[in-house]
Amino acid sequence: MTAKRVENYLGTEGILSSKLEGFEYRHQQMDMASAVEDTFENARHLIVEAGTGTGKSLAYLIPAILWAVENNKKVVISTYTKTLQQQILNHDIPLIRDKLGIPFRYGLCMGNENYLSLRRLKRSAQAGLFNHPNEENQWEGIFNWAGETETGYRSDLPFEVLPQVWEEVGRQKDLCLGKNCETHSSCFYFKARKQWFGAHLLIVNHHLFFANVANAGAVLPAFDAVVFDEAQNLEEAATQFLGLEISNSHLIYFLDRLHNPRTKRGLLTRIDHDSVFHLRKMVMVARQAAEAFFNQLLEEYGKNNRILRFYKPPVLNNAIYVPLEALREGLKSLEGGLHLEEDRVEASSAAERCFEFNNSLSAILNQHMRGYVYWIEIAQKKRFPRVVLRGVPIHVAEELQEQVFDKINRIIMTSATLTTSKGFEFVKERMGYQADEELVLGAPFEYSKQVLLYVPDDLPEPGDEMEIYVDGIANRCRDLVAVSGGKTFILFTSYSLL
Ligand code: SF4
Repeated sequence: MTAKRVENYLGTEGILSSKLEGFEYRHQQMDMASAVEDTFENARHLIVEAGTGTGKSLAYLIPAILWAVENNKKVVISTYTKTLQQQILNHDIPLIRDKLGIPFRYGLCMGNENYLSLRRLKRSAQAGLFNHPNEENQWEGIFNWAGETETGYRSDLPFEVLPQVWEEVGRQKDLCLGKNCETHSSCFYFKARKQWFGAHLLIVNHHLFFANVANAGAVLPAFDAVVFDEAQNLEEAATQFLGLEISNSHLIYFLDRLHNPRTKRGLLTRIDHDSVFHLRKMVMVARQAAEAFFNQLLEEYGKNNRILRFYKPPVLNNAIYVPLEALREGLKSLEGGLHLEEDRVEASSAAERCFEFNNSLSAILNQHMRGYVYWIEIAQKKRFPRVVLRGVPIHVAEELQEQVFDKINRIIMTSATLTTSKGFEFVKERMGYQADEELVLGAPFEYSKQVLLYVPDDLPEPGDEMEIYVDGIANRCRDLVAVSGGKTFILFTSYSLL
């Protein structure tokens, strides 16, 4: 492919200019598309900062698709926000397909917990898992929707599902029976995966990308190139993924799901086995230990909202370790004595979670992870204060370099905000990314000709009279939209004003 290929689409005489009403040629977009094309052709690493309005997504999507289709390859497009994903899926991809006539296959990849599990949906009804009428109503809503939805995506549900309801019906990796599942052939997740394997383009978010890295490439199909858009958030996403976390609410919730003495529900009430009574006692002991441990933290650090760094390992008695380890062993031996595979996977998954809780807690309390920073967060909540212990790596550069950049031949990193002091040094150092080519493209607007700055000096001040202020700016915005003929983008710094 020569540099002319993208010109055929994005150039002054290109297909977009003839087929898309209102298309404006932007040389920044063309420059970026040529550099991306070059990167795919020559297996390179590129970093591009392109100002708002460049049309970045088309500048990488078109060469990515052309290269993938021509060479029968797979390109991952990774974004940080859902908004950008939606723009790519609902605007850019249909445009490339319809107006540009490039035939290609693509798939939206979501984390497995976003898909409805038909087996768990059925089982949750049989097991009578819900305590409240609204949870039961939601279950019914999901059941009806399951017969209509093509995707099984949680986000496609016509109502906001309660987390505790989805927890019982969504796919969970460690509870999936795979090919042994009676609904495997109609499973939403496996149908989606089939589509991913045949796609040229995979749309993912940074979080899923790192889930794939952490799982040795078992989450996504093998791919040949990656474009990280919103790359300024890549470090944060990697940091979160490599981090450790344990909270009182998670641990108690997990134990309640094994056996909740108040509602008399949980895995250990559904399973029929001689050892369940003994295991329920073990859950109770673990819960008491967890409560004592987190109370100890609250006594030490107070109950008020705060975030406090642990500069050295805190002197605390980890009373959770022994009862959780005993529970893990108990669940493992229960697993061996169960007949139904469904029950076995649940027992095995619960045992694994005991192990993970203990692992994270020990790592945070002993601070034995090299280059990590550790802290405690306390937040007042209605029922009880939420206590979270966290540990995250200070630098992810080495890990990113080894696990991502050294392994993938073609990488494009882009965003509207990647440079500091007009260079990429900071971001390259933080992420360990060595680019073969660097490109900084300004915004395509001629500010001196196209911009009018308006600073109102007669609006009420924000403060005590908030309502008057809000009315004032709302009316002024309406006037400005009217005089500028619409098509207005209004940016807020405060979410509550939106
Ligand atoms: S295959 Fe796994 S995810 Fe799919 S319905 Fe069965 S258990 Fe659920």
